[in-house]
Amino acid sequence: MLPPTGLADPETDPTATYAVDPALARRLVGRVVAGPRHRSVTTRAPFTAAPIAVLPVSTPADVRVAAAAARAVGREWATRPLAARARPFLALHDLVLDHQGELLDLIQIEAGKARAHAFEEVADVAIVARHYARRARAYLRPRRRQGALPVLSSAHELRHPKGVVGIIAPWNYPLTLAVSDAIPALIAGNAVVLKPDTQTALTALRALELFTKAGVPEGLVQVVLGEGPVVGAAVVDNADYVCFTGSTATGRVVAEQAARRLIGVSLELGAKNALYVAGDADLDRAAEGAVRACFSSAGQLCVSAERILLHHDIADAFLDRFLGRVRGIRLGGALDYSVDCGSLVSKQQLDVVTAHVMDARSKGARVLTGGRPRPDIGPLFYEPTVLDGVHPGMTCYAEETFGPVVSVYRVGSDDEAVERANEGDYGLNASIWTRDVARGRRLAMRIRAGTVNVNEGYAAAWGSVGAPMGGMRHSGLGRRHGGEGIWRFTDAQNVTVQRLIGFGAPSAVGAERWAGALTLALRAMRRAGVR
Ligand code: NAD
Repeated sequence: MLPPTGLADPETDPTATYAVDPALARRLVGRVVAGPRHRSVTTRAPFTAAPIAVLPVSTPADVRVAAAAARAVGREWATRPLAARARPFLALHDLVLDHQGELLDLIQIEAGKARAHAFEEVADVAIVARHYARRARAYLRPRRRQGALPVLSSAHELRHPKGVVGIIAPWNYPLTLAVSDAIPALIAGNAVVLKPDTQTALTALRALELFTKAGVPEGLVQVVLGEGPVVGAAVVDNADYVCFTGSTATGRVVAEQAARRLIGVSLELGAKNALYVAGDADLDRAAEGAVRACFSSAGQLCVSAERILLHHDIADAFLDRFLGRVRGIRLGGALDYSVDCGSLVSKQQLDVVTAHVMDARSKGARVLTGGRPRPDIGPLFYEPTVLDGVHPGMTCYAEETFGPVVSVYRVGSDDEAVERANEGDYGLNASIWTRDVARGRRLAMRIRAGTVNVNEGYAAAWGSVGAPMGGMRHSGLGRRHGGEGIWRFTDAQNVTVQRLIGFGAPSAVGAERWAGALTLALRAMRRAGVR
């Protein structure tokens, strides 16, 4: 007998704590586009390395099939009124919340994160679904624009779907990053070919079943799986627009490929985010917030903080509070809310984290807490780690670690904090802690990051989905959320109707007199305040 979540029963099968009900896995895997003689890979639960499921590997030919199928279903979808395309996503909002138990289990099993961090994904998808379902009209309805000649030229801006949107997603936020960009893409009238990371594909596939239950037509979202350079590249080759989330290095490859095809691309990439605690901050709140900012999803979060900048005046007092809390973090793989932090996702991530800490240590950094893998808990656990004395000669000074490792630095002023926060090539997220909100806003404007959270680590700006979110500099191109998060999936069209007289000189008037008349008209428009 399987528990209702679809997880196998650990009482009868000791390796099954993190196994997925084979019937559920088979049903989900059946949605992947892969030919009859496909290769397969077995995914393993980060918590124990026990097998989760056997997943098919698609080929470039499968991606072509997937794109053609999505395009065919998309033709009818695009003709539906906007309200009809938005409606399923309010239902999705409810379904995701109703089915959160099984989604949280799947996210934890595949990505190895703690339940509280998995819940952020459920909440995120609900928020994004609600937002775009309710705001789609405001974003996409035809808009009257100022015509060239008032009254005579009547201009309208229309938004057309691109066609097939390719979404390529990483493993770290398997629910959010696989489906929350699909929501505005679909509402805008597109079909989608999704390539989630294979490690976390079941989460994406189960979420897509909920899309269907919510009323999204079967086949409008097609899923392919496989190695990024092969299957991801085929997605770029077959899409009319690409929404990519992943590392900066891969983002560059995707951008080059998209440029050759002259298709648009949005890139949500890597980061080395700074968190600044100003001299007047509420230190208990800041320490609490910094723990979440640094160690949510074991630091495998694009917007998490890997650098803490502390004003000299409060540095020691803050560290007292912060380190006490970090040492208290409970590591574990429980599929409930009883632990605070989960595991890294893969051996590759563990190797990077271990190498960054060893490199820093060998060059003189001090480990204030953590600094060790924890194989006694599970093969990929690593202790939340705080380093001091990190300098530019160390790898983790400027490179993204993407793990539970943060370095602390002391600064003498707000100006120095801004300068340090802006160091390096990235510019995704920043966090500022101060009791003076006006000061926080002033500092935020000087930081070259796509989101800045004042008195929060990352969730406030990320969750404020009416405003755009994304990276400056090497952290990305384009934005998710807000108007930009849906307009990117459309082609703008300007339809202008000209009445009575046109722009060419009527033959009875002659070009010179006509130019004179237009000159008078332009001057009159300027005086009348025409925009
Ligand atoms: P990655 O770039 O290795 O892989 C991301 C996705 O791209 C995967 O699905 C992968 O299979 C695919 N891919 C790999 N090579 C490809 C290619 N040549 N063409 C097309 N697709 C290809 O990244 P990762 O290690 O899985 O994820 C971690 C990175 O993602 C970190 O740098 C993190 O900061 C970043 N990230 C950014 C955001 C954001 O919103 N800015 C969010 C989450 C993660």
